[in-house]
Amino acid sequence: MSLTVVGSIAFDAVETQTGSRDRLLGGSAVHFAIASSQFAETRVVGPVGDDFGEGEYAILRNRGVVTDDIEHVPGGKTFFWAGRYHRDINQRDTLQTDLNVFEDFAPKLSDASRAAEVLFLANIQPDLQREVREQCSSARFAAMDSMNLWIDIAHPSLVRTIGLVDCLILNDGELKQLTDEPNLIRAAHKALDMGPRVVIAKQGEYGSAMITRDGYFGITAFPTADIVEPTGAGDTFAGGLMGFLAAHEGEIDGGTLRRAMAYGTACASFNVEGFGSERLYELGRAEIDARVADLEQMTRF
Ligand code: AMP
Repeated sequence: MSLTVVGSIAFDAVETQTGSRDRLLGGSAVHFAIASSQFAETRVVGPVGDDFGEGEYAILRNRGVVTDDIEHVPGGKTFFWAGRYHRDINQRDTLQTDLNVFEDFAPKLSDASRAAEVLFLANIQPDLQREVREQCSSARFAAMDSMNLWIDIAHPSLVRTIGLVDCLILNDGELKQLTDEPNLIRAAHKALDMGPRVVIAKQGEYGSAMITRDGYFGITAFPTADIVEPTGAGDTFAGGLMGFLAAHEGEIDGGTLRRAMAYGTACASFNVEGFGSERLYELGRAEIDARVADLEQMTRF
C-alpha cells in the first residue's frame, strides 16, 4: 500500500555531552521516511528553502523516498531546529525553532500522494496536519504525532485533528499534558474519546505502550548501550511502525499492530546509535529483522 507523510523537513543543530553537529538533515517527516521506506514506498509532503540542496535530496532518494511533493520555496529558508541534550539523554532543551518556509505553507498534494492508503501526519502545526488529512480522504489507516508546543498553543486545533485519525502516537508526557490527566491509562482513554481507535505512548528508553478500548500492549525498547544522539527516535519509531503497516496486506488488527510496534522499536534503536538518522542511511532490512527477532524473545507479540 502507498504511504504519504507530511511533517517538518529540517536542518537541525544538536549538542550532546560528547559531541555536536550544527547542520544535520532532520525534521519529523525526514526521520519518518528514512525508516518507513525500508518497508513501503513513501512520499514526503512539505516545503524547503534554497538551502536544501542536491545532497539532501540524494539522501532521501537513495532510500527510495519519493520527493515529488517536496515544495521548493524560492528565496525561502528551510525549517531549523536546535536542541541540547542533558547527561540523561532522555532530557533535552529546545534552543531554537525557526519555522521559516512553514510559516506560509499551504499543502497541495499531488494525485499520487492524495491516493495514499496509509497516511502519517508527523509533528507539525495541527491545522496543516488537518489540511493534509482532508486531502487524503481515502486513507484506510491514518496516524499522527504532535508535541508539547502545539498542546500549549494550539490545543483546540490539535483535538480536532486527533478526531480525524485512527491512531495517535505521542510521548507519554505529551499524552498526559494533552488530556490533563497524570495517569497514563486514564490519559490514553481520554485520548481515545477524542476519536482514534489506537493510542500509542512512546516512553523513550523504556519502550512504548499501545492502548485500545479492549486492551493494552507494552514493548520494551531494544536494549542498546551505544546511544550517540536520539533526535528523531520518535519519528523513526513511527516510520518503522507505519511502513510495516503499509506493507501489510489485509486487516490491521491487534496482532498486526503489535508486530508493527516491534518494527518501530527496532528502527528507533538504530536511530539513537548515530547523529540524526545517519545510522539508517545504509541500513539493510536484514539488520532490522534481526532486532525484531531479538525483541520477540523479550516480549510476546
Ligand atoms: P523527535 O526527537 O522525535 O522529537 O524529533 C525531532 C525532530 O523534530 C527534529 O529533527 C526537528 O527538526 C523536528 N522538530 C522539532 N520541533 C518541531 C516543531 N515545532 N515542528 C515540527 N518539527 C519539529
